[in-house]
Amino acid sequence: MTRAEELAQRLVAVRARLAAACVAADRPSDAARLVVVSKTWPLSDVLALRALGVRDLGENRDEEAATKAAALRAAERHPEQDDLGSALVAGSRPVWHFVGRVQSSKARSVASYADVVHSLDRPSLLSALARGAERAGRVVEVLVQVSLEDDEQAAAASGRGGATPDRVRRLADQVAGTDALRLAGVMAVAPLQADPDHAFARLAAVAAAVRGDHPSAVEISAGMSGDLEQAVAHGATLVRVGTALLGRRPPLLR
Ligand SMILES: *Cc1c(COP(=O)(O)O)cnc(C)c1O
Repeated sequence: MTRAEELAQRLVAVRARLAAACVAADRPSDAARLVVVSKTWPLSDVLALRALGVRDLGENRDEEAATKAAALRAAERHPEQDDLGSALVAGSRPVWHFVGRVQSSKARSVASYADVVHSLDRPSLLSALARGAERAGRVVEVLVQVSLEDDEQAAAASGRGGATPDRVRRLADQVAGTDALRLAGVMAVAPLQADPDHAFARLAAVAAAVRGDHPSAVEISAGMSGDLEQAVAHGATLVRVGTALLGRRPPLLR
C-alpha cells in the first residue's frame, strides 16, 4: 500500500469515527470539523491529504508551520513545479490552524500565515499577534486556550499552556476588543492523567460563559486521537487529530 492509500484509508476511518461520535452525542453528523495535525510529517503527506479533500491543517511550531504553509501555497499556485501536482485541490484554499504554544517572539510570524490561532493564553501575546495580522493585512481568528489542570501551579508545570478558567473571560474580552483579531471561541487539551469527560465538561462550562459575553464565539477546539469522542460529547466543534491519521510521531519530536 502506498502512503497515499494508507492516508486515504485512515482518513475514511477517522471521519467515520468523528461522525459516529457526533451522532452518539445527538448532534448533526458534521457538527465537529476535523483539523489534521500534520506536525513532524513531510509536505508530501500534506499534499496527499489535500488531494483527499482535507481543508483544515494544524501545526504547533512556527518554523515548521511557516515553511509548510509557504510550500503548500507555492505548490497549489504552481502545480506544474511539483511531481505531486495531481494532489492539488482546486478552489478550496487550505485553512491553517496554529495549535501549539505561541512564543512571544514568534507571534508576529504566526499571525502572517495562521488563519486560526488556538492557543492564546496570555495578554502579552495580543499586541504581537495583532501587529502581525495588521502588517499582513489579515484578520486572524483566535481561540483562548483554557488550562484544565487543577490550579495555576499545575497549569504552569504542565508546560502545555492555557489560561486558568478565571482569567479566560477577561482574555476573551481583550481579543474581542482588538481589530485585527476575531474571537472565535476556546480551546483545551485534556490533562494527561485526568478523566477526559470531566475535563471537557469543565471546558464546556467555560465556553458557555465566554459565549454568554460574546455570542459569536461558538467554537470549542477539543479532542485529539485518543479522546475525540468525549470532546464531541461535550460540544467540541473542532477536533485536532494527528496520530490516528498520520501514525505515531518519532519519539524525540513533538
Ligand atoms: C499534536 C497535537 C494534537 C494531535 O494529537 P494526536 O494525539 O496526535 O492526535 C492535538 N492538539 C495539539 C495542541 C497538539 O499539539
